[in-house]
Amino acid sequence: MHNTSTQHLAASDRGELPPLEQVRDDVWSLAQPMPGGHLAYSLTYLLRGADGGVHVIDPGWDSDANWDRLASALVAVAPDGAVTGITGTHLHPDHVGMAARLRRASGAPLAMHGAERAALERHDTRLLDPDEVTARLDGWDVPQERRDELSRFVDRSPDGLVLAVDRTLSDGDVLPVPGFRTVVMGTPGHTAGHICLRDDDRGLLFTGDHVLPTVFAGLGLGGTTPSNPLADYVASIDRVRRYGHYEALPGHGHRFSGLGGRADESAEHQLKRAREVAAVLADVEEPTVWDLASRLTWTAGWEGLQGFQLLSALSQTEIHRDFVRTQTWPAR
Ligand SMILES: [Zn+2]
Repeated sequence: MHNTSTQHLAASDRGELPPLEQVRDDVWSLAQPMPGGHLAYSLTYLLRGADGGVHVIDPGWDSDANWDRLASALVAVAPDGAVTGITGTHLHPDHVGMAARLRRASGAPLAMHGAERAALERHDTRLLDPDEVTARLDGWDVPQERRDELSRFVDRSPDGLVLAVDRTLSDGDVLPVPGFRTVVMGTPGHTAGHICLRDDDRGLLFTGDHVLPTVFAGLGLGGTTPSNPLADYVASIDRVRRYGHYEALPGHGHRFSGLGGRADESAEHQLKRAREVAAVLADVEEPTVWDLASRLTWTAGWEGLQGFQLLSALSQTEIHRDFVRTQTWPAR
């Protein structure tokens, strides 16, 4: 993997937000800061169509400062800055939080995958909703003394995004941008309706949170799905690997080459955890999710996991356990 953005490299060396960057003649990337501290910003992409209008991919976290930043960027890339369409790679607020405001202000339609649209309509956009949490805490066998901490977190979590989607995208659809042939690739895993966008003419793959240069994204963080998010993810990595020679334009970090290798690393990161889970399952008969998670290695240490991190750890453990139990996979 190689960072293809010298501007981003220079900015991060100085500890600054990267500037608006021209990626191709008619493609720009814009860093939009987000709260939380885990990642500093998400990346918005602007496609300037042959009609002079701008198509916005993932407008970013909703804040007045980001709104002003986007408005300035639009004027910089197109004389009248008219937005003609909006596409969201997935339903997380650091990617589409500002889509509602942009849609209202511009009148441009918002397009997202059908699974994301359905999840948004169910207001099913949080990691877990409170009713589901109670049921899950029972199912995971969380000790009584740790339940308050998890429930407290759930009480404090923000409400799901309220976002109307105008156009439902499916695999193989082409975005309506004159002068572009940007193809929708269904890549479920991170969320059930996550998409990547492929531009064969320019050799670009907009990867959203599917493949990222500096971190590995979590799985199953969208609406509920009958399929296993890890099984989905591994299949989605296979789809992207075919375009491993394309330049990757990710949802966070910086653009990069060596997408194929990074895709493999991303799958391997998850499969390594699946092997660890398989080893415990071979040793311990029918462990609960709590018991299983406590036997795995965690960066912060098992004892150090609290609140959201703990909730997320249990959720990821359940996904890996179900994957190991139900899928045939390379147990290298
Ligand atoms: Zn995400």
